[in-house]
Amino acid sequence: MQLFNTLSADERAALIEASGKQRLTLSFYAYAKIEDPKQFRDDMFVAWNRLEVLGRIYIAHEGINAQLSLPADNFYKFKDQLDTVPFLKDIRLNVAVEHDDLSFLKLTVKVRDKIVADGLDDATFNVMDRGIHLGAKEFNSMLEDPNTIVVDFRNHYESEIGHFRNAITPDVETFRGSLPIIENQLADYKEDKNVLMYCTGGIRCEKASAFFKHKGFKNVYQLEGGIIEYTRQVKAENLESKFIGKNFVFDARLGERITDDILAQCHQCGKPCDNHTNCANEACHLLFIQCDDCKGSMQNTCSTECLEVVQLPEDEQKARRRGIMKGNMIFRKGKSDKLAFKQSGELSDTALAVAPKVKGARNRIRKTLIGKGEHYYPKAEVGQFTIKQGELKVGDRILISGPSTGDQQLTLGVMRVNGQEGDVAKAGDKITFNLPFRIRLSDKLYKILE
Ligand SMILES: [Zn+2]
Ligand SMILES: [Zn+2]
Repeated sequence: MQLFNTLSADERAALIEASGKQRLTLSFYAYAKIEDPKQFRDDMFVAWNRLEVLGRIYIAHEGINAQLSLPADNFYKFKDQLDTVPFLKDIRLNVAVEHDDLSFLKLTVKVRDKIVADGLDDATFNVMDRGIHLGAKEFNSMLEDPNTIVVDFRNHYESEIGHFRNAITPDVETFRGSLPIIENQLADYKEDKNVLMYCTGGIRCEKASAFFKHKGFKNVYQLEGGIIEYTRQVKAENLESKFIGKNFVFDARLGERITDDILAQCHQCGKPCDNHTNCANEACHLLFIQCDDCKGSMQNTCSTECLEVVQLPEDEQKARRRGIMKGNMIFRKGKSDKLAFKQSGELSDTALAVAPKVKGARNRIRKTLIGKGEHYYPKAEVGQFTIKQGELKVGDRILISGPSTGDQQLTLGVMRVNGQEGDVAKAGDKITFNLPFRIRLSDKLYKILE
């Protein structure tokens, strides 16, 4: 019985690409009493691994919280499997708006004390006494009520790229940290206001709404299934989306577009932009917003310090990582003095720009798939690609495209074909050429047809 992943993330990515199967990204959660989380974890791992599920799943005595992707072909088998577990029977699955075959690269099922790190002592209040669940239509009409205040229960880097109009968007870094701050901020509204809560998929509000009722708030409502389910209902019922911008998500996509309003700015140059990225310096990995121009000139790093680090030889970078730069330097969420245009706290509802229609924009470029990314050598700033089909010549316009890389166009200058300088590359060849930005294994290489 295999209970753990045996493949590396890179090997997984290669396998997914090779299988050619479209994957669905989805999430679900359930609060339910699980007597033996460890046994449950092992059972689920075996069943889901068989269905080629990838993702991040937390299991605790209090329930399950799952974010995952699976081959679209296995969707109904997966639902059948969930139906064998009494508290997961007919559970609502939040299916993502946008799909990326590489949203998750392995299956991780972990046993935790809690399925959400809320910092609450559940014994001190009735966790079952929750706020009233509202669907998209009811949520919209409740928003029209002047007696309503709407509160975003997510963190600053999430609300920065998208939120409900007029929402209170606390400047908080963790859910745990947000609860006392929000309680303080809303102290005057306990008796007579409708408090409308929302989060990404609904799970954070389940516990928070009960906690706020316990704290004396009389009229507590929560968005059923969060922004993800709201968006689905808005589309299905043709409603107005009062959520504007992008919904931040916790997989490799980092966000899915809900409306074409761009509310945020590139943290480095201030240009309207709502694409999050992680600093390419592994010792930093700061989450921040970066436009394509800055991504190119800064090599996907957050600061001149990090830009210097990524130029160092790999072993020197590793040595540094072992040193003082560890600890809370790693995986900081979007706050650094180096970022001149970072916004949090009170956010504007005014769009700074309109996002181009992704599909339309892509269609306007006539292109043909030539190959895929293989490797990036940061020291030499060289990208390596494998040619899968067709032919590529020096002087061709090319497009490199992927979820982290975005869409990068350039003209092919000097290249090496199978290690030798060459002018033409054909199917099966490996080519390398200079690139000012990092590429990923999942990136696709296109020839642009003029
Ligand atoms: Zn920029
Ligand atoms: Zn950095």
